[in-house]
Amino acid sequence: MIEKSKFFAKVCSVFEKNGLDRYISDEILDKFYLLTEIMLETNEKMNITAITDIDAVIERHYADSLLMLSAGIEEGAKILDVGCGGGFPSFPIAIARPDVTVTGLDSTAKKIAYVNETAKKLGLKNLRAISARAEELAFESEMREKFDVVTARAVASLPILSELCLPFVKVGGKFVAPKSKTAEEELQSARRGIEKLGGRIEKVEKTALRSLIEGEEDAERTIISVKKVAHTEGKYPRAYAQIKKKPL
Ligand code: SAM
Repeated sequence: MIEKSKFFAKVCSVFEKNGLDRYISDEILDKFYLLTEIMLETNEKMNITAITDIDAVIERHYADSLLMLSAGIEEGAKILDVGCGGGFPSFPIAIARPDVTVTGLDSTAKKIAYVNETAKKLGLKNLRAISARAEELAFESEMREKFDVVTARAVASLPILSELCLPFVKVGGKFVAPKSKTAEEELQSARRGIEKLGGRIEKVEKTALRSLIEGEEDAERTIISVKKVAHTEGKYPRAYAQIKKKPL
């Protein structure tokens, strides 16, 4: 692991380049440093991330996860991260926004155990993770329509993701999906389903993940915000095979 001061300088440069300067503080930098150490060490024993270069971790995991905050997350919001894997965007959001509470959800129990253990080591009291399938957990009364914000990064295409995520969003809350190049196409094919599930597309914000790595191009990002305007019918989400075979 590189020296702390060098790591801090790298994070500051990337965050400044991406308009994320407000999330720079000694406490936040310390937590990102510790997270990087733990993640790269654990990654030697179990598969958490394919990204192991520190500059790339800072850009593609930390800054990229924080870009979705531009959707506007209210103070104290209750957030669910569907398919959080090794904790993205769960960790960066919980670190940068101590006022919110984040629940990470993933079907892989090993990854969830790692996220919970690491959150404890980082002293993150606002992050917990649950191992379950989204389409099953959405029928639990303490989870259904209980979250102000539901997000998911790199889990599925928007038509599938909408059915997995919108049932967890309370009416008046939102589903925020960060997408890359295929955003427009995915949006078109998800429009009808989003309405059926009680959502209304509220904002489509084009942005970019700006890179400082030599030879690396900036990456297109689109942050899609869907407002929950009506309750989701009790029959959704359907079984995963059905969602995949015939998206709404
Ligand atoms: N969001 C993380 C990230 O951006 O690094 C992980 C992305 S990984 C490519 C997709 C994750 O979604 C996997 O860990 C997988 O187990 C999880 N996943 C896929 N479908 C799921 C479902 N129906 N319920 C819960 N987790 C799911």
